[in-house]
Amino acid sequence: MPSLSRRHFFGAAAGMAAIAAAPRLAFAQAPAAAPAAAPAPAGPFAVPPLAYPFNALEPHIDAKTMEIHHDKHHGAYVANLNTIAKANPQLGTSAIPDVLGNLNALNDDIKFAVRNNLGGHANHTMFWEIMAPGGGKPEGEVLAAIDKDLGGLEKFQTDFNAAGGRQFGSGWVFVTVAKDGKLAIETRPNQDNPIMDGKRALLGNDVWEHAYYLNYQNRRADYLKAWWNTVNWSKVAERYAAAKAGTLGV
Ligand code: MN
Repeated sequence: MPSLSRRHFFGAAAGMAAIAAAPRLAFAQAPAAAPAAAPAPAGPFAVPPLAYPFNALEPHIDAKTMEIHHDKHHGAYVANLNTIAKANPQLGTSAIPDVLGNLNALNDDIKFAVRNNLGGHANHTMFWEIMAPGGGKPEGEVLAAIDKDLGGLEKFQTDFNAAGGRQFGSGWVFVTVAKDGKLAIETRPNQDNPIMDGKRALLGNDVWEHAYYLNYQNRRADYLKAWWNTVNWSKVAERYAAAKAGTLGV
């Protein structure tokens, strides 16, 4: 087959050219290769790996947004926490809800940085967990609570989207869950988390522009609507049971 032999020929020629050029390339590249990318600062905090590929939530959330959001934005909160934890090692050994629920116990010099970065770490850890390709529908106890406390699934999603749209600037729209299982829609600015008010997030959507801007630009309402296709309702059901049992982490 002529086309095959042509490919072989060009492949071999390219290989020979690479070998011939190798010594010069090696010399030329050695100085540039030396300063390797700085490793992530070692410390007690780490970005949890996604349970699905970056493109798994397309077309609702694009792969590039997921990659930047997970690796860079969440990565920055974690890197900042590890820096803070160097001088404040107790930060890395405390349960996150204990710290976020008692921010006033922290020294003034780290209070706001912990609020923002540990709040961001908690929010995003929840966020990756409650999404999955394929979405689904709420059922069982969670659906019963949505019916009872939030006026049914359709009204709940409409109200949640409206609350997320009203959040001025950066922040989150959550469904909070009380110890008795009661649900409520609540927003928070920046990286605040309901744990800071003694509540728990059952689920939440990130309405920072970094969560949607590459694909949706200024159309936050479209993002909020599409996001429901990504919600992992079986994980939400686990979180609901854990919240009622008092064992939900972040
Ligand atoms: Mn975010």
